[in-house]
Amino acid sequence: MGGRPALLTHDDVTTLFHESGHGLHHLLTRVDDLALSGISGVEWDAVELPSQFMENFCWEWEIVASMSAHVDTGKPLPRELFDRMLAAKNFQSGMATLRQIEFALFDMRLHAGFAPGGAQGVQDLLDEVRREVAVVAPPAWNRFQNSFSHIFAGGYSAGYYSYKWAEVLSADAYAAFEEALAQPDAPARVAETGRRFLDEILSVGGSRPAIDSFRAFRGRDPELDALLRHNGMVEASAPEPSNA
Ligand SMILES: [Zn+2]
Repeated sequence: MGGRPALLTHDDVTTLFHESGHGLHHLLTRVDDLALSGISGVEWDAVELPSQFMENFCWEWEIVASMSAHVDTGKPLPRELFDRMLAAKNFQSGMATLRQIEFALFDMRLHAGFAPGGAQGVQDLLDEVRREVAVVAPPAWNRFQNSFSHIFAGGYSAGYYSYKWAEVLSADAYAAFEEALAQPDAPARVAETGRRFLDEILSVGGSRPAIDSFRAFRGRDPELDALLRHNGMVEASAPEPSNA
């Protein structure tokens, strides 16, 4: 407007990277059957792996520095501001994680073993979950369950956990690249890891169970460590590849 360029916020850029992950999943498919190609037929709790994987690049200092520019001066984002953005992203991430786990557990138990009209009411079930995982107990008049539209109107019934699970998968997949970058022969290792990500995740679509694809890529079951580290909940003991 007014001769000024359109600007993207960091949030916008992250969304762009996220959606480009879905785009790559579609573009790089080698499955000819439409119903199983690209993101089609990929289980709900794994379909966000490539997209959330891409978001990680927006939190790498070297990448942000290389693609950001002040609208007037052309200077990249200052490192100090980036560090503060990162700190804000991870602010109380433990609390946010437990909140997601509370919602996911409530959803799963409600759909797996809850008997309407039985001895245990919906509120009792939610109270039980909160006693198990909540750090801050909501006030007694809180009726969160009545507005938890994801699971009653949004199609997430027994699937709310997929938000957090997809984060586990994408963080652990990204960590494979961090590990490759930390090796002495980093360029070759990163190229090999990228090839494996293409062959075992991006290109196979829904032609096999997503957990099989993950294991084929990572050589093991998913682990939590990378997500905890990316969220600032454990010390980032792994080498900082982007600063090397
Ligand atoms: Zn998405």
